[in-house]
Amino acid sequence: MNIVRFEKVCKEYMLGAEHIQALKDIDLQIKEGEFLAIAGPSGSGKSTLLNLIGCIDIPSSGKIYINNVDTSGQTPDQLSALRARTIGFIFQTFNLFSVLSAEENVEYPLLQFKELSVAQRRERVTKFLDIVGLSKFGRHRPNQLSGGQRQRVAIARALATHPSVILADEPTANLDHKTGDGILQLMKAINEDNGTTFVFSTHDAKVMAMAGRLVRIEDGQLIHENAVMHA
Ligand code: ADP
Ligand code: ADP
Repeated sequence: MNIVRFEKVCKEYMLGAEHIQALKDIDLQIKEGEFLAIAGPSGSGKSTLLNLIGCIDIPSSGKIYINNVDTSGQTPDQLSALRARTIGFIFQTFNLFSVLSAEENVEYPLLQFKELSVAQRRERVTKFLDIVGLSKFGRHRPNQLSGGQRQRVAIARALATHPSVILADEPTANLDHKTGDGILQLMKAINEDNGTTFVFSTHDAKVMAMAGRLVRIEDGQLIHENAVMHA
């Protein structure tokens, strides 16, 4: 099944009187279970594309379907609800709450799911901290963890809501090469073990080489789409 479908999607920003065409006529389909890289230089439109997939932003024209739901028909509240239930986010700067422990950071997005009991929330926290290899670090705050460990907490937080797709905007950009490699390996292992769909942006050729599929974006256009590239 397609989790994401873009039909002729354009995104324009206004900067003063200037129109910036950030994305042009994007057609894209993302299937359940994919490990998809969005590659392109800085300023090419990768973040804009991820923000549209994540329903953080809306297109200027064209249609975006998430799990076959036409997002153009949704109110802002419906879009937030859709986002909370279907999208997990991982950021290059981790975006953890510094005053919360690793456990509390993972639990936080679950608080909005009123159908979950306290015990069910705790169960998910334990399960996903274990999956990312941080069982022993639940009580640690972000400043007591390394960069790689922080990103693992962010991955656990994203997984805990059982999203249809996890979006990762340059997840290795703030990590040294070896640590970044470990993060990508972890994402790949979760994808292979569990079929969790990942979409990640990068301008690092080594990261691109780990993709199941690669989409290249240049000046807002999808210029190239093919099967696995081995660098
Ligand atoms: P990337 O993630 O590949 O670095 P972005 O999606 O951030 O690229 O940016 C694509 C283009 O859109 C760039 O020209 C950028 O300057 C522009 N852009 C992004 N966000 C905004 C915004 N909020 N307002 C105006 N221009 C923007
Ligand atoms: P339960 O039925 O007890 O909630 P499931 O095994 O059916 O647990 O998993 C529920 C959700 O958790 C699914 O979205 C699944 O993809 C996710 N999940 C379970 N195990 C893993 C794992 N090892 N890695 C990533 N996601 C997982």
